[in-house]
Amino acid sequence: MVSSYFMSLLLKIGVPEDRLLVLEGKGGIVEDEFEGIKYIRFRDSAKGFRRGTVVFENGEVVLGFSHIKRVVQLENGIKRVFKNRPFYVEEKVDGYNVRVVKVGDRVLALTRGGFVCPFTTERIGDFVNFEFFGDYPNLVLAGEMAGPESPYIVEGPPYVMEDIRFFLFDIQDKGTGKSLPVEERYKLAEEYGIPQVERFGLFDRSRIDDLYGLIERLSRENREGIVMKTPDMKRIAKYVTPYANINDIKIGSHIFFDLPHGYFMGRIKRLAFYLAEKHVKGDDFDEYAKALGKALLRPFVESIHEVAQGGDIEEVFTVRVKNISTAHRMVTHFERLGVKIHIEDIEDLKNGYWRITFKRVYPDATREIRDLWKGLAF
Ligand code: ATP
Repeated sequence: MVSSYFMSLLLKIGVPEDRLLVLEGKGGIVEDEFEGIKYIRFRDSAKGFRRGTVVFENGEVVLGFSHIKRVVQLENGIKRVFKNRPFYVEEKVDGYNVRVVKVGDRVLALTRGGFVCPFTTERIGDFVNFEFFGDYPNLVLAGEMAGPESPYIVEGPPYVMEDIRFFLFDIQDKGTGKSLPVEERYKLAEEYGIPQVERFGLFDRSRIDDLYGLIERLSRENREGIVMKTPDMKRIAKYVTPYANINDIKIGSHIFFDLPHGYFMGRIKRLAFYLAEKHVKGDDFDEYAKALGKALLRPFVESIHEVAQGGDIEEVFTVRVKNISTAHRMVTHFERLGVKIHIEDIEDLKNGYWRITFKRVYPDATREIRDLWKGLAF
């Protein structure tokens, strides 16, 4: 139930009354709280308020992060999205999306879905200079949290060897969600020492061969891909490397039954378009085919063995926190996401941090494999 205080606040900031009632009725807006700070998160969108939008009790609005268009045929995709306009190219860092905002006297980290994340909020000060918010309280820093010790993502980029790091890729205005022009963001990030995604410079469609070369290098270096943006941030498109498509399949096939079929189909499709666009043939083609087959089958078969021997499908991950209470809050946070995790181990790193090991069990995937292995026919 959303309180009458928030209902009238939402009306005041412009959510149409009929839409508001529908959203409230079907749980499309949810009231939540983080350390005494009350907020609403939008699970669905409503006129100008994108999914993931957060409204705080003081009336401040942080709009949800927009969907970025994906191109699968690079040359034609670029022609279509950018026409003759130049565009900046940045690395697409493989992690999870956060929006960092100052609300009252607190700096909070919001997930894509609009939750205040207890872990990221505790750690964000390790990476972002909060003086920025003293000077620009109305700006939102959007970036990727990435690394091997992440609560939401199984792997990180190859150059983050331990823990987790923040990589800025957008600065937006709080109320409107409008992005700052690319050069302005680059300048502000440098001025305040905020770490950014790697930048590859300004391109246009005539430099397609350089882009192909870049994609090949990133793929070889086990990196996820690129995001292309016009200087005014009005047109944005993403493209992922063949490495990332195959690697995602490898990670996903371990929990095959827990993922929608579209997860696998989308990545196979993108890989096929890459092979066709680059006319990959002969031994190179065979290598991709083998890598795809292995990625799809090996972790899946290993999971079947695991369950056949009486085990569960599970994932273990670690994070570093400053307070053990943050780890307990993450367990509650995951519960609200409908995910069951528990703490397996707590280690004092003796540097002000604790390394927490969590285990996540996948009951649906486990049950499905168990039933099929036992001979259930359908
Ligand atoms: P979308 O709704 O945009 O399709 P998604 O959840 O399917 O998002 P992805 O396909 O991984 O996610 O791609 C978009 C995400 O990539 C962004 O939401 C952002 O978190 C992440 N990202 C990483 N690096 C960048 C970058 N340089 N610029 C923009 N986004 C980036």
